[in-house]
Amino acid sequence: MSARIVTLPGDGIGPEIMAAAEQLLGKVGDFELDERLVGGASIDEHGTALTDEVLDACKSADAVLLAAVGGPKWDSTDPGKPRPEQGLLGLRKGLGLFANLRPVRPSPALLDASPLRRDRIEGTDLLVVRELTGGIYFGDKGRENGSAFDTCVYSVAEIERIAEVAFRFARTKVTSVDKANILETSRLWREVVSGMAKEHDVYFEHLLVDNAAMQLLSRPVDFDVILTENMFGDILSDEAAMLTGSIGMLPSASVGSDGPGLFEPVHGSAPDIAGTGKANPLAMFGSVAMMLRYGLGRESEAVGIESAIDRALEAGLRTPDLGGDATTEDATKAVLSYL
Ligand code: NAD
Repeated sequence: MSARIVTLPGDGIGPEIMAAAEQLLGKVGDFELDERLVGGASIDEHGTALTDEVLDACKSADAVLLAAVGGPKWDSTDPGKPRPEQGLLGLRKGLGLFANLRPVRPSPALLDASPLRRDRIEGTDLLVVRELTGGIYFGDKGRENGSAFDTCVYSVAEIERIAEVAFRFARTKVTSVDKANILETSRLWREVVSGMAKEHDVYFEHLLVDNAAMQLLSRPVDFDVILTENMFGDILSDEAAMLTGSIGMLPSASVGSDGPGLFEPVHGSAPDIAGTGKANPLAMFGSVAMMLRYGLGRESEAVGIESAIDRALEAGLRTPDLGGDATTEDATKAVLSYL
């Protein structure tokens, strides 16, 4: 039976890069695609960024592929107005997506686009596994007598389920990042993850977050999976992403313990270039590869897409964000030709 994928093109360049992704999927295999509205497009049609019907369709799919949502048309400071981003949050919550995965693998042809020296990043191939629904972003917060507070809370169960994801995806090593010299939540984190490491056959280490921030720049090649809590992951994954040079290149995935994952490029809907044919579809293609690998268990097709992207770049493919003049269509044709 072919896998059923809900596709959510969204807004801005979303429909353009989703059309490219559909061409790619058409060449890779036989998939049942179920296209639905999300974000601003859904607000225009239904008055809400995510309908119950679309959420239900996502819940019963094998995977969900999203392009991007948002744009000036729906920007408003009125808290009562629906916002495109509510579609994303609704999907994360509704699908129980507590793990955010961001691979960092600079394409060999773009090594000189990184702010770091080529010899530092060459061979980097790491995955940041960030806890997405707990910690200081979700704890009690407020203001009292001229002070403000944010509370960081983690339960054993929350730590166990994210650590399980990290061990599942590790190939050689898990580096657990915390601030156990200062924070109680980090000490619990360390205790729980250390216990789990004994049951897994991969090299395991702890790093304090300040040290991890340094090591990511000084020896990125030595990392495999970086496992960390919500806020540290937010910061470290952006730091790690810069190793690759361009936002038009970065894919991501959000997964839960069971049920479908959500796969999407890191960038937004780029309203400034929507409709011009200038959108770089490569982050979207990378997200399709992640969907095949982590969402559908089809590793060889995922690798096929990633190497087709690398080969197209090696042959000189450059969209405007990479300093060239290739259109979305040119980029799609180039990648398809190397599949
Ligand atoms: P953005 O990522 O959309 O764009 C930032 C810059 O990068 C722009 O100059 C854009 O042209 C360029 N860019 C982004 N993706 C590109 C691509 N694939 N190819 C070529 N150039 C690309 O961020 P923004 O401008 O801050 O936000 C625009 C809208 O997107 C906002 O409404 C924002 O809320 C939304 N947004 C959505 C998501 C998402 O859907 N996950 C993420 C971030 C922002």
